[in-house]
Amino acid sequence: MVKTLNWPGFGLDIAPFPTTESRTQVVDDFFSEVHYALFLRKIKEIGKILLDYKNGLSHPKVNNQYMVTCLVSSSELKTGDTSFLEYVLFHISEHVPKIENIFECDRLKFFLNKNHKKGKKCRHTEKILLDPDNRIPQSENFQAEHYTAELFTESEHLSSMQEEFRKKFGDNEKSYLLIFSHYVPCTIKHHHCAELLGRYVDVTGQQVVVGYEKVFPETDFFKSIDSMKAIKVVHPQIQRLRL
Ligand SMILES: [Zn+2]
Repeated sequence: MVKTLNWPGFGLDIAPFPTTESRTQVVDDFFSEVHYALFLRKIKEIGKILLDYKNGLSHPKVNNQYMVTCLVSSSELKTGDTSFLEYVLFHISEHVPKIENIFECDRLKFFLNKNHKKGKKCRHTEKILLDPDNRIPQSENFQAEHYTAELFTESEHLSSMQEEFRKKFGDNEKSYLLIFSHYVPCTIKHHHCAELLGRYVDVTGQQVVVGYEKVFPETDFFKSIDSMKAIKVVHPQIQRLRL
């Protein structure tokens, strides 16, 4: 079901967008999209700085796609405490000269697509996050059964972020994986990024929230959203709200 979301007081008409009632939500409904948007805006700001820096150094420029992921705690979301992201923003200039295709700072990571070389296929940011060693070959049709909880647990990117999260919050605090991706996770053949993220949540139960800015022309937006049924997807106009 698709309907127009009117948000009284903000003068926004956002359409079309699948409503939460039409999707199976795994993400806790305790937090509203506005809670997540506060964090997604900061994460996006960090990503833009890193992308612009990278583009300033690269000829030809890298493409527009970048993805930033960060594990945040339930208490940070509850209180709107973005001090960790402010810390990253404050110190980012110390790191930019060292940026490769992946940048990491504690429990935050930045990814660019890995372009194809010597006959190898291009790998998208979601695949790099979830299967960094490329253990599962990319195929025309998405083969969900190959992506197991064990495979995801062994991702060096996920495990190092989780380790940093545990150091800070211990074992009992619930974590939320926030992802800002310039393009909504794609549905392009051989990539299937939306299905890959959906599968990750289905087999691990991790809470995941995705923000995005644009839809790549080859992506079927509604198929993308449908593939991420258990993921909260925050619409870009909500991310732009200043509260
Ligand atoms: Zn993709």
